[in-house]
Amino acid sequence: MTPSKPVELLAPLSGVLLALDQVPDPVFSSRMIGDGLCIDPTSQTLCAPFAGVISNIQDTGHAVSVTDANGVQVLMHIGLDTVHLAGKGFTRLVVEGQQVEAGQALIEFDADDVALNARSLLTLVLVASGEPFVLLAPDADTVVVGQPLMQISPADATEATGRDEGDAVFSEPLTLPNANGLHARPAAVLSQTAKGFKATVRLHKQTQSANAKSLVAIMALQTVQGDTLQISAAGEDADAAIKALVTLLAQGCGETVAAAPQAAQAATSEASVTLLRGVCASPGSAFGQVFQVAEPALHITEKGAGTSVEHATLTRALLAAAEALQALQDKAAGSAQAEIFRAHQELLDDPTLLEQAHGLLSKGKSAAYAWNSATTSTAKLFLGMGNALLAERAADLADVGRRVLKLILGIQDSAWELPERAILVAELLTPSQTASLDTGKVLGFVTVGGGATSHVAILARALGLPSLCGVSREVLALANGKQVLLDADKGELHLAPDLAEIEALQVEREQQLQRRERDMAQASAPAITRDGHRIDITANVASLQEVQQSLTLGAEGVGLLRSEFLYLDRNRAPSPEEQAGTYSAIARALGTERSLVVRTLDVGGDKPLAYVPMDAEANPFLGLRGIRLCLERPELLREQFRAILASAGLARLHIMLPMVSLLSELHQARRMLEEEAQALGLSELPKLGIMIEVPSAALMADVFAPHVDFFSIGTNDLTQYTLAMDRDHPRLASQADSFHPAVLRLIASTVKAAHAHGKWVGVCGALASEVLAVPLLIGLGVDELSVSVPLIPTIKATVRERALTDCQLIARQVLGLEEAAHVREALRQFHAATVDTSPVREN
Ligand code: PEP
Ligand code: MG
Repeated sequence: MTPSKPVELLAPLSGVLLALDQVPDPVFSSRMIGDGLCIDPTSQTLCAPFAGVISNIQDTGHAVSVTDANGVQVLMHIGLDTVHLAGKGFTRLVVEGQQVEAGQALIEFDADDVALNARSLLTLVLVASGEPFVLLAPDADTVVVGQPLMQISPADATEATGRDEGDAVFSEPLTLPNANGLHARPAAVLSQTAKGFKATVRLHKQTQSANAKSLVAIMALQTVQGDTLQISAAGEDADAAIKALVTLLAQGCGETVAAAPQAAQAATSEASVTLLRGVCASPGSAFGQVFQVAEPALHITEKGAGTSVEHATLTRALLAAAEALQALQDKAAGSAQAEIFRAHQELLDDPTLLEQAHGLLSKGKSAAYAWNSATTSTAKLFLGMGNALLAERAADLADVGRRVLKLILGIQDSAWELPERAILVAELLTPSQTASLDTGKVLGFVTVGGGATSHVAILARALGLPSLCGVSREVLALANGKQVLLDADKGELHLAPDLAEIEALQVEREQQLQRRERDMAQASAPAITRDGHRIDITANVASLQEVQQSLTLGAEGVGLLRSEFLYLDRNRAPSPEEQAGTYSAIARALGTERSLVVRTLDVGGDKPLAYVPMDAEANPFLGLRGIRLCLERPELLREQFRAILASAGLARLHIMLPMVSLLSELHQARRMLEEEAQALGLSELPKLGIMIEVPSAALMADVFAPHVDFFSIGTNDLTQYTLAMDRDHPRLASQADSFHPAVLRLIASTVKAAHAHGKWVGVCGALASEVLAVPLLIGLGVDELSVSVPLIPTIKATVRERALTDCQLIARQVLGLEEAAHVREALRQFHAATVDTSPVREN
């Protein structure tokens, strides 16, 4: 191969020149697709920047790539967010694979039309193959089509030998294992990974070499299985680049190949896969760069410097931690963060922890050692109980433990030097770390540990940060700065996203925002189907603050007050007065025209209450949970009934019993309620209903119906008990699906039985908050949907877009399907066929 000559690029358009940093779109300004420049066009025909082949032209005509004989590839993208114009305003003049001359017209576009309908006309000219370039007139503000614009740096002209690379480092030779050589797919994986490094990286085959960041250049090497290849790299992260790329090549660049050679196995790969999966902890999506979060190791000396000195040190640190937590609480007053910091503060004066720590101090241990031993051993105890919620408390304890430990050791919390658009990657984030994240810079996060119900997940949702948990450990090997696409809704982290994926996600997000605005504007209107059938939309809440928020979002009442959440993270039981005060405040906020459904304590299973001590159980979900526990401890239930009854008359009061599986449980609870109401001199009982969340209750709904005022279906538990799949199991998350026909049939028969006895049925499980499920639940005859607070406007709008008769048809159809995936697909098709996608209607 002869040394390649510099390549001159001609301006593809006339217009005003801009630097990429000025482009208001991180996909381009981050240079993830490639470096280059931007033209604000004044002409309307995009021309070829050099002679070459059309290597790609989008069907929509908004983007085209041209590749020259040396493998230099230039991508030209007309406008921002123009993909969603779906071709409107663009005329393609060439086809893929066509040879073109420099200056030949490639795409014509109607600038007025595009400018009117897209975000911007700014056009990107990017060197997608990654070669360095120089601007030919660096000070020019404007350019005329056909004028020389930039030149690929002659540094590239060392192609032939590949050995003149100055301080380049070379890998050991390796044998290519891929059966078909580095064809398009493995070459794309290799070039994407290479692009994650700053170093100049080349792939060598005998006397030839190619820019390893260029898909086209790699393919042009025409490698075959058994070729001896080498990687060379020059630049600050050259060693890391070589290590990652050698491993990637040895492992087949995403293709299945025979066992990797020894040398490569020893190295750690940055990524041999392009997609990692996890469980959605907080919905949304983001495109950003990886930032690995690693906490420094803390060094603890066991022996103390005297009991009184160490005692004073511990006391000081605990005090300082309490002050810091108070400050954080004050800053976040009224939010979920504040609640979590309050819980952390309580842990600081937990008598058991302090007793353990002081016991060790009196044995001559240091404050750091004593505090660390007390917190870590208690956290371990929690973890060993096989209970998801206790495991999360262990995370809180570890968080507080570390906070105090740093204060004892005098270690300052150094703020992370976060880059812009950071996607944090960590083994685990603590609630403190999550609550203090700079949302101006952090776009989302991904953790190996954690669960969808953890405090960290709750905080992520409160902060609106998309996040995934339960992702494989491979994620910890990703290089800082690597561009990734986090699609939390689908539970996916894309390690080599292509432009089309990023654009599709951006378009989707834009549409969601527009829809959200429209739904919010109509939030106070009732949810009535197109053919006049009204559905009550109420809120699932766990605090007074959420009740207030739900009312501003159009809630027509509270369909589920999870009373146990009012007192979670408390070491002591709330007094009867405090309980009564809480319920009355909530009832008052709702007023006499709105209904309030208070669920009695649903403790046990995944929800232990610290002040209701329980024996360890082998299967807590199948043990003393919900109403069973309350009937075992009648005083607890009676006290709660009295507190709830104090709010009678302030709202339309309903009491609901959780986890009912036997009719006798309902009878016993009703008797107690009647006795307490009588003792309080109440002439009228509140409405009494049960949750349908155990298959026995669903199957016997016709037997329960005459004895209740209403049913509310808890699809979260109904799904886990029907399918025998733990609702928090990270590996079963995708299968424990409430759309399973088995669950749907139980809902259908419950509604039928209730209506036969003139009783109403709500759904308060998470299924009610799913847009896809709304027509199905309406069609099955559900009367009320009690949904997660932020989704109230969306669910109301979804009801308004449907007709009851259509919903009944689709509901009948999906009951006969075989599995959840088929149900989802049928509902997706129904959604596409029936949703009105016309612009906002004024009504
Ligand atoms: C349910 O199980 O669906 C429900 C609403 O109750 P929780 O999620 O509180 O168990
Ligand atoms: Mg439940």
